[in-house]
Order: sequence, then structure tokens, then C-alpha cells
Amino acid sequence: MNLEHREIPQALHNEEGDGELHSHCRVCDCYLLEDETEYYLEKVVRRVPELQTQQTLFEFAVCANCLQELRKALSKESKRAMEQFFQQKMQAVFFNQPHTNLYEAFENGRCLFTGKKTDEFETFQMAAYCKGRHLHSQQPPIIISDETIEESTELLSAQTRDELNNFVNSNFGWPPEFAKLLTEGDLALL
Ligand SMILES: [Zn+2]
Repeated sequence: MNLEHREIPQALHNEEGDGELHSHCRVCDCYLLEDETEYYLEKVVRRVPELQTQQTLFEFAVCANCLQELRKALSKESKRAMEQFFQQKMQAVFFNQPHTNLYEAFENGRCLFTGKKTDEFETFQMAAYCKGRHLHSQQPPIIISDETIEESTELLSAQTRDELNNFVNSNFGWPPEFAKLLTEGDLALL
């Protein structure tokens, strides 16, 4: 299979845009679908078991430049703590299941870190790093459950959380409670 040209999964297409690919950065509005343009995609989903359905809380695309700005809001200590957290999680995944195929895990709707299906969670997020119309090579899309997100949030200092809330509020116009979801999705890929 050509690793350079994996399709962006349908689940990460733009629901508001009739299921097309996200085409513009949510922050600076630059165009994303040029071949060499790198950007990050994220979608946060809440399950509604009573109705046997799920609801997208928010979804967005952010270009690599804006993502870098976002990361500046984090102190070095927080960044290091988060990176270590996700690195250890990744190592555990491969230690326990050496043959884990990350692309398959995503397709099967499994949280990368817990291995559980998304229907066991109240909320979960999906994220991918992309280049133009395709996934960035060797950057599999991932699903992260609320369980893992909560665990990682405990690593952020109160100050860092404030900074991130401010950034998200000024650029996205979303409620602050989504801020932590947003930023941890970002860090999970780094
Ligand atoms: Zn941007």
C-alpha cells in the first residue's frame, strides 16, 4: 500500500460541509487542500445511547502554523509531561499488543490507548494529521476515549489550562469546557 496517499477517513470529513474534506483553517482561514499543506483535524463526539446515535460536539481543521501558536500557550513543563504521558501510553500499547495496526484500530472504532470500542465511552475524540487531501504519511488517525483524556488533563497546571482556555475562546468561539479536549488531541499526536 502506498503510505504517502492514505485517504482521510470519512469520519473525519466536514459534517457541516456535507461530508467534504475540511478545506480551511479554523483560525487563519488559509486553504488546506494544496498537496504540501499540513494541518491537523479533530472531531469530538458524544454518544447518545438512548437514541442509539452520536452527536458531533465540534470539529475543526487547524493549519500547522496555527497549531504551533497553540502549542506556545503551553509551558515547557506541561509539554514535556504530556509528551511523556502519551509516549508511555504508546509504548504500553505496543508492549501489550506488538502487532497493533493503528489504521485498523481507527477503522474498528477503538480507542488507541485502552483498546476499547467507542460505544463504551460517553465522549471520545478522533484526530489526524493530514497533508493536502490525504493523511500525512506514517501518521495514523487516532481515537482517544474520555478516560484517557481525563487522565492526561491531570498533568496540566491550572495556569496552562487558563492559557489554553483563553486561546480557544479567542480563536474558536467555543465553550471553555471543550478547551481541554482540543489541546489534548493536539498533543496526542506530537
Ligand atoms: Zn491557520
